[in-house]
Amino acid sequence: MAFKKRRPHKRVNKNEVRLMERAAQERQVMSVGSLLTRFPSVSRLDIQMDFVSHHGHLLGSEHRTFEANDLLNFFADCPGRCGNGRMDVEAAVKQMINNQQTSRDTNGTCKETLFAGSSETCDCELRCKITAQYAPVTAEEAKE
Ligand SMILES: [Zn+2]
Repeated sequence: MAFKKRRPHKRVNKNEVRLMERAAQERQVMSVGSLLTRFPSVSRLDIQMDFVSHHGHLLGSEHRTFEANDLLNFFADCPGRCGNGRMDVEAAVKQMINNQQTSRDTNGTCKETLFAGSSETCDCELRCKITAQYAPVTAEEAKE
């Protein structure tokens, strides 16, 4: 008689998936690294963030300065009506540094809906000014 070993089918519930996604997101933040490891040509990075509601009120401001060994963090929690929006300025920072620019303005709007199933979005605006100071090129590097 053929004997078949039955392996229980592992079911992943939605909650587990959500937890795994969250852990992956957190790992992503962790792996962003320090200014020195990510952008070795930059000696100092400043990010000024102003959050403006869709009515034009200033909801909050934040200034971040990163130097050599400071861990980078390009995420900002939206202080707007959504309560769970997240802004990310990493792409703008990368582009600015790739282009060797010393300053760049970037704006973003939170597209988070106000509650599940709502068609109304938060529309809180992030006005962001990024400035970078580049490390002087050393004689060693100039030779290459
Ligand atoms: Zn928002």
